[in-house]
Amino acid sequence: MSHLKIEQLKVNYGGIQALKGVDLEVREGEIITLVGANGAGKSTLMNTLMGLVRPARGHIYLDGEEITGLDTKKIVQKGMVLSPEGRQVFPEFSVKDNLMMGAYLRKEKDAAKELDTVLQMFPILKERFSQTAGTLSGGEQQMLAVGRAMMADPKILLLDEPSLGLAPLVIKEIFQMIQRIRNMGVTVLLVEQNARMSLKISDRAYVLETGLIVASDTAERILNSEEIQKAYLGGL
Ligand code: ATP
Repeated sequence: MSHLKIEQLKVNYGGIQALKGVDLEVREGEIITLVGANGAGKSTLMNTLMGLVRPARGHIYLDGEEITGLDTKKIVQKGMVLSPEGRQVFPEFSVKDNLMMGAYLRKEKDAAKELDTVLQMFPILKERFSQTAGTLSGGEQQMLAVGRAMMADPKILLLDEPSLGLAPLVIKEIFQMIQRIRNMGVTVLLVEQNARMSLKISDRAYVLETGLIVASDTAERILNSEEIQKAYLGGL
């Protein structure tokens, strides 16, 4: 389990202010949803947390230790891992090889053990083990992307739009999987544009609007807020 604290995070792309001073906290064992429209800055936040984008200002703490500006590799080693938007699996590589890439920082013996755990968690990946990732359905590719992230044995897992482009039944499976991951002791920060289902499985939520947090509350209260329903959840 793990604790993440973000203070006054600012990110600029040239003249564009993508994050304008974001404060956010993910406590040990929580599932947190970050809700926000297209272009609000959700992916920027995730990428900045992972050291892929450099912030102009602000601080990121993991378990009390400042990790702002560290290399991605170091951040992964400290236990924070991202499953990126659009899955980004390698279509020409087998399911096995895609999974093993998630463990590239780990010892061979640990990776082999983790592989057993991940295959138990995602039986579909065991069935498809030798197939190339490009032959999997969208839902299976999403499972693979999350499975690959789990191969690094994260304490905190960042999920960027895991339900994007998937059918409703598959989305349901993805959210069940996220709950199982949390029940295994992994803290989860989830970014979603279609937030209704992710709010249902979350403890708390933050709403991001053009680079600023405009609301934060229990997931239940965010889900029931008329204003937020109108703006983000497709009306009442
Ligand atoms: P989406 O759901 O569409 O991915 P998002 O909430 O994740 O949206 P970001 O992708 O973080 O939003 O983008 C935030 C803002 O920063 C947008 O105005 C976007 O156009 C801009 N932006 C993102 N990446 C870059 C970049 N590499 N260079 C310049 N501007 C960028």
